[in-house]
Amino acid sequence: MAQGRVLWFTGLSGAGKSTLASALYQELVSAGISAELLDGDAVRENLSKGLGFSKADRDMNVRRIGFVAGLLARHGVTVLVSAISPYNDTRREVLASLPNATEIFVDAPLSTVTERDVKGLYLKAIAGEIAHFTGVSDPYEAPTQPDLHLKTDLLSVDACLEQLRPLAGLHQEVPA
Ligand code: ADP
Repeated sequence: MAQGRVLWFTGLSGAGKSTLASALYQELVSAGISAELLDGDAVRENLSKGLGFSKADRDMNVRRIGFVAGLLARHGVTVLVSAISPYNDTRREVLASLPNATEIFVDAPLSTVTERDVKGLYLKAIAGEIAHFTGVSDPYEAPTQPDLHLKTDLLSVDACLEQLRPLAGLHQEVPA
């Protein structure tokens, strides 16, 4: 069985990782391609329940996600990981351990994600009510050489998906 691809979406909270990963997931499923989503928030409620936001705990979370992604990919599943995964060293190490993985930098400036404030957390973090909040009171180390760099403050979701499809093994329809 062919090794599945792993698409690893990294970026600040609210940058657009889940939006893009779940839209791509729907397209993969519609195309009959076996796929799975590993969403950071869902993982933290289950597999990584109890972990906090220190570097050690964040790294452990990323390693667990990588481990599961590897198991799935081994069975031919296309895996879409959406996780802040803020530390370059651990993210690179985990990606390097996966045979068919690409790093996708979902990039939006702090001003944009604060304005979006999808989960209502940025204002609280800026007010000092949430410790260790990535981008505000905790570091985010941007990828230095991502396979794909999507500036979601400038591109629409559709424009991002167009660039993502080839990485996911989805081919654009060629007009007859
Ligand atoms: P994350 O998973 O990174 O925390 P979400 O996907 O939950 O972020 O939220 C991103 C928000 O930004 C959504 O409300 C989405 O509609 C919006 N958005 C605007 N432009 C884009 C884009 N090009 N790609 C992804 N999301 C976008």
